[in-house]
Amino acid sequence: MDVTTGRRNLEGHMMWKPMSIIAMVLALAGCTTVKDPPMPVSPAKSEWSIAIHGGAGSMAPGRFKPEREQEYRDALAKALKAGSDILAGGGSAMDAVEAAVMVMEDDPGFNAGRGSVFSYEGHNEMDAAVMDGATRAAGAVAGLTATKNPVLAARAVMERTPHVFLSHEGANRFSEEMGIEQASPEWFAIPSRRRQWEEFRAKQVGWFDKDLKYGTVGAVARDSGGHLAAATSTGGLTGKRWGRIGDSPVVGAGTYADDRSCAVSATGTGEYFIREAAAHEICARVRLTSVDTQQAADAVMAEIGEMGGDGGVIFVSKDGESGFSFNTPGMFRGRADSNGVSEVAIYAAD
Ligand code: ASP
Repeated sequence: MDVTTGRRNLEGHMMWKPMSIIAMVLALAGCTTVKDPPMPVSPAKSEWSIAIHGGAGSMAPGRFKPEREQEYRDALAKALKAGSDILAGGGSAMDAVEAAVMVMEDDPGFNAGRGSVFSYEGHNEMDAAVMDGATRAAGAVAGLTATKNPVLAARAVMERTPHVFLSHEGANRFSEEMGIEQASPEWFAIPSRRRQWEEFRAKQVGWFDKDLKYGTVGAVARDSGGHLAAATSTGGLTGKRWGRIGDSPVVGAGTYADDRSCAVSATGTGEYFIREAAAHEICARVRLTSVDTQQAADAVMAEIGEMGGDGGVIFVSKDGESGFSFNTPGMFRGRADSNGVSEVAIYAAD
């Protein structure tokens, strides 16, 4: 016989879940801690698996014209295919996440690479990170102003230096010296981003745009060798000042991969994800407790929500399960795996 008990879901509504009467009686008697029933299971274990995101934000159904919505879905499918093709061909998780992220960096619709938002001064300051779950090697860059694909600079930090994190002028010089393609300001001068910046400057509101001009991009993957990788790339937040750096390039906050648990890429109000050490926190819970990756991701997103943060995460587990967790009305996202799953989505109800 079942009764029901309420628990808060990520939108903050009450969600009713069955719980056994025995567990309820024990809980009322204070005999044991009642565990919430599991969240919906993520897809089955798979040999290779990839999940991508193109940012989370206030997009609800009807927010975009149908043609624009289709463009986003097509762009996500293209990025997903770039990563999936590599994994299906026996390539590495690192190559797959890099390829998926590069497709989205080149697409002006996302807030990364070409479509990066403008800082308070009207520049593009791009951040990116990669992490290899097999070795836990990582590379990150912040404040790049001319690199066409910041994910390549992050990977070069990981593979070609003993360092993990380079920033601003030094990171720009490094990127150039490594022969990574640079682009002129015109490449990044997307009119819709400039309009967002002008609106921001005209309103002079707050520290930064809390509406989240969706579009930070990320990818996580498991390859057929069982290795995980994560990559995240962003222009940050419209109107950011003083060299502000969000969570995306901060290893453990917006990006993390560990073959012993999972790979995670985040998007959202970065300061909260840094304070939660979100990506590492999810992987640590999976490694050190009995929760699965979906449960860990949901719990960490709930804590971020309680602090006042918005956004979401994508993950793949060490067994190739993939999933998402977000507390915004929508998140551009997609996933594919060796079991034949291939899907993209935008809204929470998708
Ligand atoms: N997390 C990014 C940042 O705080 C922004 C985003 O994901 O939209 O820089």
